[in-house]
Amino acid sequence: MHAAGRQSLNALCRYFGRLRWPDTLQLNATRPVTTSDQTTLSNSLDRKGLFLRKETRMTEETVTANGSVTNGFKSLLVTPVCIIGSGPAGHTAAIYAARAQLKPIMFEGLLANGIAAGGQLTTTTDVENYPGFPEGISGFELVERFRKQSELQGTTIFTETVEEVDLRSRPFRVRSNHREVLAASVIIATGAIAKRLEFPGAGIGDGGFWQRGISACAVCDGAAPIFRNRSIAVIGGGDTALEEALFLTRYASRVYVVHRRDTLRASKIMQKRAFENPKIEFLWNHVVVAARGDTLLRRITLQSTEDGQKRELEVAGLFFAIGHTPATAFLNGQIGLDEQGYIVTKPGTTHTSVEGVFAAGDVQDKRYRQAITAAGSGCMAAMDAERWLQDHEDEVMALDRLSQDTEQMMKAT
Ligand code: FAD
Ligand code: NAP
Repeated sequence: MHAAGRQSLNALCRYFGRLRWPDTLQLNATRPVTTSDQTTLSNSLDRKGLFLRKETRMTEETVTANGSVTNGFKSLLVTPVCIIGSGPAGHTAAIYAARAQLKPIMFEGLLANGIAAGGQLTTTTDVENYPGFPEGISGFELVERFRKQSELQGTTIFTETVEEVDLRSRPFRVRSNHREVLAASVIIATGAIAKRLEFPGAGIGDGGFWQRGISACAVCDGAAPIFRNRSIAVIGGGDTALEEALFLTRYASRVYVVHRRDTLRASKIMQKRAFENPKIEFLWNHVVVAARGDTLLRRITLQSTEDGQKRELEVAGLFFAIGHTPATAFLNGQIGLDEQGYIVTKPGTTHTSVEGVFAAGDVQDKRYRQAITAAGSGCMAAMDAERWLQDHEDEVMALDRLSQDTEQMMKAT
């Protein structure tokens, strides 16, 4: 970059009360930066110093031959609301935001955390408790429908995983390996992943009984005919394990709770309910080390954590209830999380600890964890974002100007 160009940009940054153009930043212009470029950038900045910030982790700012400012990516994308995640929460937020003319951009993920775009529902067979589908609907088809509706309403969807966000100042930066989006507000709907155990017979495919007797969601799968009046085991000693065990007593003849210790982590009230239920039996100080069967799960191998002794237990079902991992690692500590890594939202809202950032679905809900509750909170997030944006119209307009200026630059060259 020409020295004069760098000086001008530094002056520009100072003028807007923020920072110097980072010394390390290489402005790899494919043509010299012109006065008109600087004017365009100047117009793109409002008095709040939007857009150019010292904290930026971008290493390369490029004004390409066709004039677009790229930060090393292919184009400059701006939106009033960027949605991260593509389960029922993300898509419901997208549908509402699109209908509110907020032109949402969604990152739906590319096998984010090992789950297909569309989220946890893509990992199940039939969903029978989502209203509107009295005969049930395959989880995959349901999320396909969500996606279609989001797109039809005007959501731009990128099949990319968000690797990094910068939520320290506005506009927020949301970045995948292929592009960066500048967003006035962000809705995080990245869900949670049920923890699964790995032992012979626990997986998918040949010799594995995942979704052929083994599951991680009793509410979702517990009513399946294969479990009716049969014995079922639940692994875990927390509230989820007891809640699932109690739920499964509606269908099963017997429910074993296999716990690795001899005391439960679950709340006293849940413990009381479970102890009082005649169908529930606790197998203390045991872990499951293998699952066997034919086309379906038939038995599990238990191992004592005290003396290592093994024994077989006939069961038609095995439910992992050993906790969930919320998909929040990519936030890199920029949002308030609870001790288990869930996003903390202000009660009754989807507002997070960062103004302008909202959270919906399982990423902020460890209690209900259902498609319908995720969808409901996605609606709340879009409405919270819309209201918040109304109060920050100037920021949306500044982003819009930036987008228009960039477009004009592209046309002019
Ligand atoms: P998720 O569904 O978890 O979706 C979030 C998605 O966002 C991710 O999967 C991924 O694709 C994407 N993502 C994650 N990180 C990123 C990132 N960094 N960048 C971009 N994208 C990202 N509920 C019911 O109501 N009925 C059922 O029958 C039922 N069955 C289930 C069966 C199984 C096997 C499981 C595991 C769950 C089931 N559930 C069911 C629960 C339900 O699926 C969840 O409560 C619901 O999907 C949560 O929705 P969500 O939008 O919060 O997140
Ligand atoms: P949790 O409290 O973390 O409990 C997980 C359980 O799984 C623990 O008992 C743990 O054993 C066991 N476990 C973990 N890893 C294991 C492994 N590798 N092998 C065998 N066992 C393993 O998780 P949760 O039950 O999902 O609850 C999460 C949060 O949601 C809690 O705060 C809970 O109160 C809340 N919740 C509330 C309700 C309700 O209020 N109705 C319902 C569900 C969940 P150890 O005890 O030995 O560590």
